[in-house]
Amino acid sequence: MGRYIGPVCRLCRREGLKLFLKGRKCSTEKCVFNHRKNPPGPPPRRKPKNSGYTVQLREKQKVKRIYGVLERQFRNYFEKAQRMKGITGENLLVLLERRLDNAVYRAGFASSRAQARNFVSHGHIRVNGKRVDISSYLVEVGDVISVHESLKDNEILKANVEFARGMGLIPDWLDLAEDGTSAKVLKLPTREHVDIPIKEQVIIELYSK
Ligand code: SF4
Repeated sequence: MGRYIGPVCRLCRREGLKLFLKGRKCSTEKCVFNHRKNPPGPPPRRKPKNSGYTVQLREKQKVKRIYGVLERQFRNYFEKAQRMKGITGENLLVLLERRLDNAVYRAGFASSRAQARNFVSHGHIRVNGKRVDISSYLVEVGDVISVHESLKDNEILKANVEFARGMGLIPDWLDLAEDGTSAKVLKLPTREHVDIPIKEQVIIELYSK
């Protein structure tokens, strides 16, 4: 599955919101968005119209960029969310939260979803003791996500875990082990665990046309 490999701070400027795509840099003064909020590219000649479609499109792009998924995969999540019981918009966000790369990020092993994705795709992550290198794997209640021996003494991993613990960033649906190398899924995440301002209903309206 492809992924966006261009400069990510442009994406925050495009969406007019900090998307936290660069790990700890996003929480420091070095964050580009702190001092450069204008959208990338030349300034528009006319004031852009904020039509209903524009709002829907921007909201969808925002979510895709946060979770690092491309259009086709995102539509698959939408279709799956539609088939599930409950509110489609909430189901959509919960499915994205359950992705393995997101769980690795939320557990504090990685400082960003992009780094988590690298850990997964390079085979450093185990689920219930088995190697899983598919970022889109959906975690289930009871799954134990752990880092492989090769990464256990990694200074980056240790610093990530220490930072996440210190800042209280680990959500209550994950239980991080004392040694910081594994985390158990205690329950499935819910809409309340998605801590970024997203109007998911607007995305559903876009796909329901
Ligand atoms: Fe966005 Fe700032 Fe992080 Fe860059 S450093 S990805 S602008 S939040």
